[in-house]
Amino acid sequence: MLITPHAVLGASIAAKIQNPFLVLSISFFSHYFLDLIPHWQETLYPYIPTKKTVIRTFFDLLISFVIVFFIAKDSKMPWLIWSAGVIANIPDLDTLISLNKKCLKFTPFKTYYNFHLKIQRETGSLLGILPQLFIVLLSLLFVFG
Ligand SMILES: [Zn+2]
Repeated sequence: MLITPHAVLGASIAAKIQNPFLVLSISFFSHYFLDLIPHWQETLYPYIPTKKTVIRTFFDLLISFVIVFFIAKDSKMPWLIWSAGVIANIPDLDTLISLNKKCLKFTPFKTYYNFHLKIQRETGSLLGILPQLFIVLLSLLFVFG
């Protein structure tokens, strides 16, 4: 799944729950729940990044920052909202780490990486953008609705 839905859902959870331990735990695990939903992915396994990946990631990050900024701006705990947005994306760092093929020989990492791959419902179809937009809209409704 893209960065934005993970970040916005994480930030939304933080906007409604003030307990940092709960927020960060729920935000982290929300990542796996969202990955189960069919979604468009610009690069499919075996994830070979291209120039398009860099451009998509830049805009994905930019949109995430803008939306999280608006969720955090009037909050009493903006640091928690920003942290939740980041924590909700931490599980995807395995994709970056896997670019170093040596890491895939490290059994604990490989076990985690395979688990994360197995739960993905990725598609190259742009229709897979819709569930992600829906998650962003639902999260915003949860915060501002
Ligand atoms: Zn993921």
